[in-house]
Amino acid sequence: MSGNEQKYINDAFETNWIAPLGPNVDQFEKELARYVGVNEAVAVSSGTAAIHLALSLLKVNKGDKVFCSSFTFIASANPIIYQGAEPIFIDSEPETWNMSPQALERAFQDAVKEGQLPKAVIVVNLYGQSAKMDEILAICAHYDVPIIEDAAESLGSLYKGKPSGTFGKFGVYSFNGNKIITTSGGGMLVSNEVESLHKARFLATQARDQAPHYQHSELGYNYRLSNILAGIGRAQLEILEERVVARRRIFERYYEELAHLPGITFMPELEQTRSNRWLTALTIDEKAAGVSVQQLLEALIADNIEARPGWKPLHLQPVFSGMKYYSHHNKQSISEQLFTNGICLPSGSNMNEEDQLRVLNCIKELFKQNRLKN
Ligand SMILES: *Cc1c(COP(=O)(O)O)cnc(C)c1O
Repeated sequence: MSGNEQKYINDAFETNWIAPLGPNVDQFEKELARYVGVNEAVAVSSGTAAIHLALSLLKVNKGDKVFCSSFTFIASANPIIYQGAEPIFIDSEPETWNMSPQALERAFQDAVKEGQLPKAVIVVNLYGQSAKMDEILAICAHYDVPIIEDAAESLGSLYKGKPSGTFGKFGVYSFNGNKIITTSGGGMLVSNEVESLHKARFLATQARDQAPHYQHSELGYNYRLSNILAGIGRAQLEILEERVVARRRIFERYYEELAHLPGITFMPELEQTRSNRWLTALTIDEKAAGVSVQQLLEALIADNIEARPGWKPLHLQPVFSGMKYYSHHNKQSISEQLFTNGICLPSGSNMNEEDQLRVLNCIKELFKQNRLKN
């Protein structure tokens, strides 16, 4: 927390707006819309809810197909199933670790052959890095299929100077506890299509018609954000830029200290983009390094340091078994390589220099021991 959160929470208490609506919600929406430069934003209870609403607005239903990045957190794809539709997973490419335009193009060509285009494409910007939006936008425009940009991890990132999350028809942010800013739990749906977002607000409030007697002509959800949590979000948004600077500084230090080690490759930053470096991620080539991701994870855990492997690709998830998948090359699945070789290092914005030194020493020690062994 930054300190100002309590002030906005107190406002909520003093005005007795303890509800999933109120002045903090309205202001949080306005302030976030202004920050990323979109016409409208709708504050909701989670990023997952925002994705679900976007699919609902695009009328994704039973029998429909939706293309979705494979290398991501499961929340990117679960709402496709909630709608009874079928996800088709698209691999990553090596320069951003995000959706491969060439795999996407192949998926579209097959969809044309089969006579059924997807209703939407969910593009994820992982660990803060924007996907290759120009290429992906061009492909989706060619087939006239809308994009939902899952920017849950990339708030504060830029692609060619423009905020991440503002490239699709809809953009999604998350304020879950682990994200770069948090409301403990929460999300935001953004778009320049104001009418659509008015509809989203309606759907997120149980789709209640304009009538005093609680009338409903459509199926809705209880997805609005609490006015208390929106207060936390307002204060968090004020320090987002500081957070990005802090996370980038953490990345820089890891890079300076570790990039020279054999077999280590840091997640790249695509030219003309600014990643918020939500998590510092890297891959380890076990042959060159003499150290595996598993060994490194174990060494870190032994020092009471929490680290994680890369996301397990969705096409490998048991819950999605049998779903279609398009790899980057016919014989090369980038997301599977990133899953096998990838690791995310501790990257919290409040990590101090000493904390980071502890992580660095642990990693260097493991590599040193290994050099001595060989
Ligand atoms: C966190 C996350 C979500 C879901 O956000 P919640 O607010 O936790 O529902 C969706 N996609 C990605 C890539 C995420 O990291």
